[in-house]
Order: sequence, then structure tokens, then C-alpha cells
Amino acid sequence: LMQLFRPLDMLGWVYRNIRQGLIDMEAMFVLLDTPAEVVDAPDARPIAVAGGHVRFEDVHFGYEDGREILKGLSFDAPPGTRLAIVGPSGAGKSTIARLLYRFYDPTGGRIMIDGQEIAAVTQASLREAIGTVPQDTVLFNDTIGYNIGYGADQADQPAIEAAAQGAAIDRFIAALPEGYDSMVGERGLKLSGGEKQRVAIARTLIKNPPVLILDEATSALDSRTEEAILATLDRLARDRTTITIAHRLSTVVNSDTILVLDEGRVAESGTHDQLLARGGVYADMWFRQAAERSVEEAAQAAE
Ligand code: ATP
Repeated sequence: LMQLFRPLDMLGWVYRNIRQGLIDMEAMFVLLDTPAEVVDAPDARPIAVAGGHVRFEDVHFGYEDGREILKGLSFDAPPGTRLAIVGPSGAGKSTIARLLYRFYDPTGGRIMIDGQEIAAVTQASLREAIGTVPQDTVLFNDTIGYNIGYGADQADQPAIEAAAQGAAIDRFIAALPEGYDSMVGERGLKLSGGEKQRVAIARTLIKNPPVLILDEATSALDSRTEEAILATLDRLARDRTTITIAHRLSTVVNSDTILVLDEGRVAESGTHDQLLARGGVYADMWFRQAAERSVEEAAQAAE
């Protein structure tokens, strides 16, 4: 009888591997449209993650020869802290996330998680340890329950429901005629940007990674939805090391450290209050965005 099951076991193995591949691919699409160029070192071992201490040590990187994007970047994000990265468009913010996920290797310097250089560990274990909530989540043509649970190996219904609750999408699902069995994706129910993001948050809650990368949505959600999502993301970030690629400064105020990236280096870093007091690049950006916000609010009020 066991012999009969062996091929099934094998199929399960293939299935799990393909599924993991899909997850990695999704994360890849999230961060970039270029395929991974890195391979595991022959003696690569799984990463042993404790608290999720992330360090960049004098990291240099460029996509093309002769054009360095990161020119000696160093920062330290102790376990459980929140680091926000801000800076002008094209400064290299998303590049930092791609390097941490190891889609590329630095040309100089080191990236460490809990004292282990990420270039020396297996990519599968590294990506297991890092969660991402993308700007635009890919949904599979399957049930909403499946879409929430598929990031984890053994997500049972109670785990899926708990995650949905944590992501504040449980009531939305309960109101669907077929609940967790409702089909979503291209051939099913179309979810709004905010709802898709909540599915991504629920997935990440199930995965429970020690390190989290948030690539803040640039696309406009209405301000009530945005506030609600931010509150949920806040909960998600608790007890993890969180690196937020931020486009709007209003969302980084509570970070433990804000890095202001400019010309491939850290131009300034500190808490919001420290950076405002400094009166430098960050303070300029803050007052400019605050002015833009009040113009927008005045325009909305006039509508
Ligand atoms: P934004 O705020 O606009 O999202 P960013 O700070 O996240 O910008 P990155 O996406 O990290 O910026 O890009 C940094 C620089 O690297 C840009 O000048 C960009 O043109 C360049 N770049 C990004 N991806 C590639 C690539 N695959 N090949 C070549 N150059 C790239």
C-alpha cells in the first residue's frame, strides 16, 4: 500500500515546490519585473532568524556598470523596530527592499539578518523570513479563503479566519453569499485596491515573518480607507522588524528611525521630531507635503 502512496507523496512535494515558486514570483513581481540573478552558495544553509535584526553595512549597488544607485549605505534596524525610508523619487528606496529580498547581490558591503550575511543563506529560507505587503496584490482564481491561506503550508480554517479578522476583512467576507468559499480573481469577484491589500495583510499575518517590508501604496485610496489600512498595518508591524518604503511622510511619523536617502547615501536619519528640529532635507519635505495636503483638503472641502 505504501508504494501506492509514494507517487502521491511526490506529487505533494512537486505541488508544494511549485506553490512556493509562485509565492516567490509574486513577491518578485511586487518589487520588480526583473528575474532573480542570484543563486544559492554551494554551502548555503537556512537562515536562523531570532529577532530579525537587519543591518546594511556600507552597501554599494548599481543595476548597470558605471551607475551606482547605492553608494555606501549603512543602517541598523534592531529587532522589532520600525524603520522608514524616505527620499526623492529614484533615490533607491525600492532597491533597498530588492536587495534585502536578495533579488540582487550588493557589489560591495554586506547585508545581515541576525548576524548572518544574507548572501550565505538559502534564498528559500530568507524569503520565508521576510513578509511583504505589496502595492498591488495578485489574487488567484480561487476562493478568498484559499487566497488568504496559500502563503502558509498548513493554514486551516480557524487560522484563515483569525487572519481575516486581524486584517479587518472578516466582516466583508461574512457578508458575501458564499463567505470564505467565494471565488475571487479575474474570473470571480473583483476586489477593490483596499480589499486586496487586506488579503495581503491577512496572508502576512498567517506567514508571521520576523521581518516585514511594506512598500507603501502610491495609488490613491480614499482617506478613510487609507486611515483604516494604516491602522491595520500598524497592528501587523507590531513585534516585527518593519521596513517601510514611504512615499508620504504622514505615514512615517511614528517610526523609530527615519532614513532620508539622497544620492545613494543616508542624508539624514532620526525620529520625526529630531529631523524636524534639524531643519534639513526632511523638514523641507515635511513642510512641502503639509502644504500640499492642506491645498488638497481645501479643494475637497470646496467640492
Ligand atoms: P520611487 O520613489 O520613484 O519609487 P525609488 O527611490 O524607490 O523611487 P528605485 O526604484 O530604487 O527608486 O530606483 C533607483 C534608481 O535605479 C532609479 O534611477 C531607477 O531608474 C534605477 N533602476 C531601478 N530598477 C532598475 C533596473 N531594473 N535596471 C536599471 N535601473 C534601474
